[in-house]
Amino acid sequence: MANQSLVRHINERRLLAILRVTGPVPRAELARRLSLTRASVTGMIDDLLARRMVRESRSSDDPATRRDVGRPGVDIAIDPTGAYFLGVEIGVGVLRFALMDLAAGVVETAAQPIDRKSSPEQVIDLIAAKLASLRENRLYRASIRAMVVTVPGLVRRDGHVVNLPILGWKDVNLTPLIADRIDLPCHIENNANATAFGHIYSDPRPHHGVVVYLKLGTGCGGAVIIDDKLLRGGNGLGTEFGHLRIATDGPLCSCGQRGCLETFVNLKALQRYATNKDVDEGATDPDLPAQVAAALVTGDPDAERAVTTLSGHLTDGLVDITSIFDPDEIVLGGAMLPILDAVVARVGPPLNRRMVPGMSMPRLSVSRIGAFECAIGAAALAHHEEFDLSNLDLRT
Ligand SMILES: [Zn+2]
Repeated sequence: MANQSLVRHINERRLLAILRVTGPVPRAELARRLSLTRASVTGMIDDLLARRMVRESRSSDDPATRRDVGRPGVDIAIDPTGAYFLGVEIGVGVLRFALMDLAAGVVETAAQPIDRKSSPEQVIDLIAAKLASLRENRLYRASIRAMVVTVPGLVRRDGHVVNLPILGWKDVNLTPLIADRIDLPCHIENNANATAFGHIYSDPRPHHGVVVYLKLGTGCGGAVIIDDKLLRGGNGLGTEFGHLRIATDGPLCSCGQRGCLETFVNLKALQRYATNKDVDEGATDPDLPAQVAAALVTGDPDAERAVTTLSGHLTDGLVDITSIFDPDEIVLGGAMLPILDAVVARVGPPLNRRMVPGMSMPRLSVSRIGAFECAIGAAALAHHEEFDLSNLDLRT
């Protein structure tokens, strides 16, 4: 990219980022914030208007107090229909989709069941079919810019799926397989990373600090966001909190070891605590958290024991996580959502007691986005690419 067009590209991204954070603003204000001349900003806006990335909107400000005398009463805003971003969650027995517009609004979600033994090629064909059906809508036809696909397992930065025992995928280089079948820029991401990113991305203001996210369901995924950036680790495989060793023994983990946090706080563990019986592979009921939550309200002792036991083990993991990351906030999400308020209530006091003296107690919260949180997070990551200056290739 030549220097001049690179500078323009950077300024376009800065302009869009300002509009995303502040909402509609007058042209003069944009020029001031970008430290550019009015003429430069006008040229850039005209170009963005032609590409439907921004649009003019009537200002709600009092005209008498406005400095933008050239176009009184007209602000510049992001045009939501200017571009769309597709998030795809490859889940266990399910594919979920979320389509996000340029204003980061979710415009469509959809889910379809898949065979748990589907091959990567079969799953990619289903994603390609969904994309084709979305493109039949004239609104999206030429405007879907990018896609992020998530998997519930280890995936390297380059999209190479290292290990996905839940689906039986191992050493699958997903990026070229997708590129062969789908004509859209695509990144592959770990499901917990995408979900965590979606949780913070709904608020467009910059976030300063450390957010830890735990996705509790069939497994226990983890993610850390520092100043709005995902901490992926050297190869993209970091923050796998499910494999923190909290015991010397315990049920066999998907990683082949025993004593991992995941085996004490996942759906199978909840079922074990609720029934006092071992649970066979694949026998967990996805409705179990809702059933336990309903029973908890009635004072059912089995439900109480299940939630309290799970919370105790989770606290063991959170004590270590807090010592390592000193997080401002710990967010719990995933399929366990119905019981997570009860878990937070049981985790908070012992975590506070067991933290290293002098450390601040992190805020504990629950992500309530629901079943599409991962697909929405994936779409948010794709959307973020449109605004993130650090992802630009600065070689000229
Ligand atoms: Zn493990």
